[in-house]
Amino acid sequence: VEGGARTVRGRHAAGADNVLVARALAGRFAALGLTVRLRPFAWRGHRIANVEAEHRVPGSDGAVLVTAHLDSTGDQGTYVDGAGVPRPYDPAADPAPGADDDGSGVAAVLAAAECLAGLLAAGRGPARTVRFVLFNAEEQGLVGSKVYARAAAAAGESIAGVLQMDMIAGRRGGGHTVEVHAGAGVSGPAAQASEELGEVLARAVSAVSASLTVERITGPGDPAAGRSDHASFHERGWAAVAVSENFFDGAEPASGTRQYHRPGDTLDDPDHDTGYATDIARGVTAAALTLAGL
Ligand SMILES: [Zn+2]
Repeated sequence: VEGGARTVRGRHAAGADNVLVARALAGRFAALGLTVRLRPFAWRGHRIANVEAEHRVPGSDGAVLVTAHLDSTGDQGTYVDGAGVPRPYDPAADPAPGADDDGSGVAAVLAAAECLAGLLAAGRGPARTVRFVLFNAEEQGLVGSKVYARAAAAAGESIAGVLQMDMIAGRRGGGHTVEVHAGAGVSGPAAQASEELGEVLARAVSAVSASLTVERITGPGDPAAGRSDHASFHERGWAAVAVSENFFDGAEPASGTRQYHRPGDTLDDPDHDTGYATDIARGVTAAALTLAGL
């Protein structure tokens, strides 16, 4: 900020740092040579933005989206005032590091973008448009992705598939399970197409990250149905899946983070494993680039 470093304490949609982070992430994508747009919208009086970075392919029959959410929250934490009396969470001031939720997904999207940039620099190009999108205000009811999907539908865009990564670093106990969520809260072609997309994704993850055990979760009973940004695309009739650590499905022993929506969701959290997140990111990137024709 103005030539100096600034420590970000949180990325809550109501916090001032959210806007700075969105701009910084846009800069990271721009440095890779992608076409970057901040897609602003209003949420409860706050002017915030989704971040979109695109490699456009003229004549593409649909865009492949690799996505995560850039906002965070600490609303499950315990907070006390100066006198030790419990007080409510203050989204504008309390820390919300969100390293796993969803810093891990954001880092993976950036890594996927770097991978595409490397291939482009080597003279290879996809057959489909590829977009990297970081949604805002996911924690407030999938607000940013709903705005984004609505606008895409209104513009008559074609989306071949959405690969959302939300919480991919939590690995308490050293499990190897990764969840691929294709379940949709809607029925019809989007639900079927999402199941097929989930199959493609599961195959890619298994192929390039053999250490992972892929758990495919399908159908309307999927506990992640409606719970991450992929759902906003189901509502508009597009294929979308969410990838996560072993967190949502309730199978025991769960091996996701214990710091969900707490100030302890930091890089130092012993529940986090960056190698595990890397394996997931590699698989999702392979699936996305394959879908894009690379
Ligand atoms: Zn999340």
